[in-house]
Amino acid sequence: MDIQKRFSACWQSFLACFRKSEPSTDESNRVEKPVTVIENPRAKLSSEPDTSSATGRPLPRPPLRAEPDIYIALYDYSARTEQDLSFNTGDTLEALDKSAGDWWLAKALTGISASKRGYIPANYVAPVESIDAEPWYFPDTKRLDAEKMLLAEGNQQGAFLIRNCESQSGELSLSVLDNGKVKHYKLKVLDNSHYYVSKTRTFPTLKELVQYYSRQADGLCVRLGEPCRKMEAPQTYGLSYNTVDQWEIDRKSIKLLKKLGAGQFGEVFQGLWNDTTAVAVKTLKPGSMDAEDFLREAQIMKRLRHPKLIQLYAVCTMEEPIYIITELMKNGSLQEYLQKDKGATLKTSDQIEMAAQVASGMAFLELQNYIHRDLAARNVLVGENNICKVADFGLARVFMKENDNVYEAKEGAKFPVKWTAPEAIHDNKFTIKSDVWSFGILLYEIMTFGQMPYPTMTNFQVIQRLPQGYRMTCPSNCPKVLYDIMMDCWKENEQDRPTFETLQWKLEDFFDLDVSSYDDAARY
Ligand code: ATP
Repeated sequence: MDIQKRFSACWQSFLACFRKSEPSTDESNRVEKPVTVIENPRAKLSSEPDTSSATGRPLPRPPLRAEPDIYIALYDYSARTEQDLSFNTGDTLEALDKSAGDWWLAKALTGISASKRGYIPANYVAPVESIDAEPWYFPDTKRLDAEKMLLAEGNQQGAFLIRNCESQSGELSLSVLDNGKVKHYKLKVLDNSHYYVSKTRTFPTLKELVQYYSRQADGLCVRLGEPCRKMEAPQTYGLSYNTVDQWEIDRKSIKLLKKLGAGQFGEVFQGLWNDTTAVAVKTLKPGSMDAEDFLREAQIMKRLRHPKLIQLYAVCTMEEPIYIITELMKNGSLQEYLQKDKGATLKTSDQIEMAAQVASGMAFLELQNYIHRDLAARNVLVGENNICKVADFGLARVFMKENDNVYEAKEGAKFPVKWTAPEAIHDNKFTIKSDVWSFGILLYEIMTFGQMPYPTMTNFQVIQRLPQGYRMTCPSNCPKVLYDIMMDCWKENEQDRPTFETLQWKLEDFFDLDVSSYDDAARY
């Protein structure tokens, strides 16, 4: 067989395997925001519910309730549809109907929409008087992120936040900005549930601890000032209350504003939904996939929600070109991001942190028994502050099925040989472990600032030499421990490769500073 035919045969077998491996249809994959209620609100009974939305349209009447369910807004939200409510951080809202899960029917009690009713994204609010409602409580913030956030523009001397401690689960840390540096203190808890920084003074609640140290430093490096400024608001689940279930949307509601890039299946645009909401729109070349196949896969993709996975918002499949509407990521693909930077601003710690984020998204897919099949830096997208999210999971399977001929014609151009595990290339065996192999290649891309893997080799040479034990050498300036992780991902026997869960903690462990790196408040 000549090279051309062998390549084509490999490719055919590669394509065939995209018709295999049904992913799990497990529904239990929502990532819920943990809420710790300190005290139940005892607000007065609500008055007779108002039945008009922000635009005067009738909304369903809520069930009668004895006690109002009061929430406080953690972020600003600007209504995207006529049925939504706009609100600002700190506004109070009464939840009237929470049955839809991600979007609640609520009545604004204060602020720009006071006394109006409409839908609100549930992840933008927290129960009033709960710790989640405190502007200084950033529970899921890692130490390194806390430093980045406190050092960001807009924070003054004494800016602070309280977060979960990474190294000891169940414990809290206080991070404070002092003269351009961030200091960290452990918040300890006594048997009687009182909190303290220094044992000489204990507090029944975190709020009282914060109030005390806001009045005087008393052993801390500085008196606590304003809470750390919050970064971007989180993604809502779906575009609006209506699109959560009806996610085939009218394409007239989408405006294509600016071309962001193009892949082999079509172009990607920055778009505006309903004249209100920034989105990314992938337009698929006519004929590049079967709408029914896509919809089947997309149903699964839609349920895969995780902070490190790009959220699929909606689709337009009624006519061609098919639109896939997802969250917009400001900095485009990781591959371009790395190539543009070339180490100018990204430090090794940033690179490892980005790899850890990808591992976290993939660990979630692993848990859902879902296989990505095309993991590479081009399929990871970057937002503000080096936030990385895995994109295009599941799409490869739909594309490949209908595009054998297209791929044949484009031989060598985009076939991801260099990212694909040997058993996937040779035996059509695609598993989460072949994704782990691809992750090793992605790690190589990250550490080389987006360099093409196996830079001096052709795809065919790679296919030939991998089974003989050939592996890429350690990139320059890449710490040995990271190269060891790559090599683990490239183990010949897929069962010897690590899980994504292990990869995630190994990468995150780079930042796990030991307890001695905490400041000590007891300086009396
Ligand atoms: P291929 O699909 O051929 O594997 P690709 O993944 O680079 O290649 P697309 O997914 O079509 O192609 O994306 C093309 C480019 O559009 C990306 O490189 C990125 O710069 C941009 N892009 C894609 N999705 C988004 C998004 N959600 N937000 C911002 N930019 C995006």
